[in-house]
Amino acid sequence: MINILIVEDEQAIANLIYMNLRYAGYACTTVYDGIEAADLLEKNTYDLILLDIMLPGIDGYELLEYVRPLNIPVIFITAKGTLEDRVKGLNLGADDYIVKPFQVAELVARVEAVLRRSGKVNTVFSYFGVEVNTDSRTVIKDGKEIQFTAKEFDLLVELLRNKNIALSRSRLYEAVWKEPFIGETRTLDSHIQRLRKKLDWEDHIKTVFRIGYRLEI
Ligand code: CA
Repeated sequence: MINILIVEDEQAIANLIYMNLRYAGYACTTVYDGIEAADLLEKNTYDLILLDIMLPGIDGYELLEYVRPLNIPVIFITAKGTLEDRVKGLNLGADDYIVKPFQVAELVARVEAVLRRSGKVNTVFSYFGVEVNTDSRTVIKDGKEIQFTAKEFDLLVELLRNKNIALSRSRLYEAVWKEPFIGETRTLDSHIQRLRKKLDWEDHIKTVFRIGYRLEI
């Protein structure tokens, strides 16, 4: 599971970020000042840090200096939205920059983008009450485990990793069955039907006319 450290002294914002990233399937820890953050960074490893700039104790710029040798990607979250601040943050080595107030969807998308760029792949996906864990290869829906065949599971993960993208049948087939697609669509189509049924995702796994499928999140 991807582990994210949230460093933010405004409790309401810290809670908002925490809840939304948890909902998206990430493990999160929240701290409210820079010194506490530095302590945690000494003890634990994180995959990403969301870092406020104006903090009690050590401020975000100073903390970034401390984080850099650890090679953990950092996204600044701050009310300081001027161009100068933005450039300073990026020059200091931040991977991205979000200005308050921000949309939650934008925050989650930026977190995903930075993790992808740094080659970190999430192993837990959580959408519509369904939690998919690619380490334990389990699917939990509303607290209950649902059984999947190996191919059904691989197909589900392929859709999740490429959510909101229209995927051709050949691409899906070749990714899951690891053999060339020769135009026989029944195997894939019936697997999609079973995923829709087991997860109750009839509305979420869309058929893309003449192309294939898209998981809409
Ligand atoms: Ca602050």
